Amino acid sequence: MDKYLSDAAHFPGGHAAGIAIPRALGEIPEIVRRAASLLVIGAQSSLTGGATPMGEVVLSTEKLNRILEIGAGFICVEAGVPVAVMQDALAAAGAWFPPAPTFTGAFAGGIVATNAAGAATFRHGAVRAWVQALTAVLADGSAIALRRGEARARDLGVPVPSYVMPDVVKVSAGYYAAPDMDAIDLFIGSEGTLGVITTVTFRTLSPVPTRALAFVPCRSESDALALVAELRQDPAVAAIEHMDRRCLEIVAEDGADRRSEVRVPEGTGLALLVQLELPPGTTEAQAFDSIQESLSSTGARTPLARVCRLLHAHGVMDDTEMALPGNPRRAEQLIALREAVPAGVNQRVGRAQQAIDPRIAKTAADMIVPFERFAEMMEIYRAGFSSRGLDYAIWGHISDGNVHPNVLPRSYEDVERGKDAIRDFGREAARLGGCPLAEHGVGRNPVKQALLRDLYGDEGIEQMRAVKRALDPEWKLAPGVIFPKTP
Ligand SMILES: Cc1cc2nc3c(=O)[nH]c(=O)nc-3n(C[C@H](O)[C@H](O)[C@H](O)COP(=O)(O)OP(=O)(O)OC[C@H]3O[C@@H](n4cnc5c(N)ncnc54)[C@H](O)[C@@H]3O)c2cc1C
Repeated sequence: MDKYLSDAAHFPGGHAAGIAIPRALGEIPEIVRRAASLLVIGAQSSLTGGATPMGEVVLSTEKLNRILEIGAGFICVEAGVPVAVMQDALAAAGAWFPPAPTFTGAFAGGIVATNAAGAATFRHGAVRAWVQALTAVLADGSAIALRRGEARARDLGVPVPSYVMPDVVKVSAGYYAAPDMDAIDLFIGSEGTLGVITTVTFRTLSPVPTRALAFVPCRSESDALALVAELRQDPAVAAIEHMDRRCLEIVAEDGADRRSEVRVPEGTGLALLVQLELPPGTTEAQAFDSIQESLSSTGARTPLARVCRLLHAHGVMDDTEMALPGNPRRAEQLIALREAVPAGVNQRVGRAQQAIDPRIAKTAADMIVPFERFAEMMEIYRAGFSSRGLDYAIWGHISDGNVHPNVLPRSYEDVERGKDAIRDFGREAARLGGCPLAEHGVGRNPVKQALLRDLYGDEGIEQMRAVKRALDPEWKLAPGVIFPKTP
């Protein structure tokens, strides 16, 4: 059973009463009825410990992996279908699923249960907006089928919480709440605590846009923010990721820039990775023409020419490296460079854990503020870490104002100081109209649970408990995930 006892968060102490791996949806009600407590899991890529069992029966959805239907504008899948499989099947049908998280091994049920988000959430929203219908098995073993627009939460006898959710594009912070809310929204983001999601119908888009990427080194954060503010206005820009100077040092130390054949000019303070969605069928030759056109005085007629013009205007085009349509290898290299950042940080945390203190753990936040407050929030992250003497790196989804500030711990005290800083950041993010829990959820992580309490207060958590009691009076499903049973 070992492989089921931890998730990507490496939350300690995982243990289980048993493991159930149903091969058919019809087996689930009986499994739920029989278990004293149950934790449903997907790919266990959770970064919160939410997919780590603490004595429950584990219900793995790995064999519930059938694509049930692909139709015009939708795909219906069983909960255990990985996002990558869904994307491949859709691509063959000329369609795609825009809010895919970076880790495409995550399962359909998992991304709904955490209301996951991806880089392109900036343009297309988070998973919630793409869930049209779902089926679930409730704690008493009964099945429920919900289609957006057809039932209200109160029809299920659920007391809708009165707290007001932050008004930002990514919120994965406990139960959704809004006056007269749709019943389907209860289950999206409920992290396995309200029901076992068995099938999901997602909206899809077609045709598939042609993608291009631009790696843009900038001299400073303020230069980068001025550029990002303009890029955000361009409809061809689907996402902008960023890496701060410390991230760039890490990829250089690890040789990831050389492997990706990327030149980071001296004096770069921050680098952007801009994802573009170009008209379907744009060829490499047309893309070259657009770049040429952006240099001429005749005006920019194509989306790519428009974006390149902007890069010229900000004086960064000469250092920009592009992956144009028809060059998937270059795109992979640029993405690999971005992915080398979390990988490099996680390796350093792991090494410190082995060499310095086994209590050392990943100490990171996942916070979002409205883009207009982003520069202010970056100052807060930096001041909070620096004043505590911490080494840190910050990267993430700059187009959303959503970043992952990470401590590079050199001692267990650094971890403690980092947690303290993160609590402060959470309060500041909320003050600026943002959310301290943007895309990964809350899970079992004590700091994340504290951030949720800071966001909604004890009264808000009590209202979440009332929702849970209404649907799961015996507290059978994922006990201890999102909030503890008792205050
Ligand atoms: C390298 C890496 C990159 C990542 N990038 C992103 C990213 O870009 N955006 C993002 O949002 N997240 C990201 N994550 C986090 C993670 O991938 C997401 O939280 C994902 O949605 C979890 O899916 P999963 O199938 O692995 O679910 P699991 O980790 O197995 O479970 C997560 C939670 O969902 C519940 N759950 C799972 N399946 C069901 C079901 N069928 N019914 C009810 N509840 C269920 C579990 O009980 C648990 O509480 C990343 C993780 C890694 C390791």
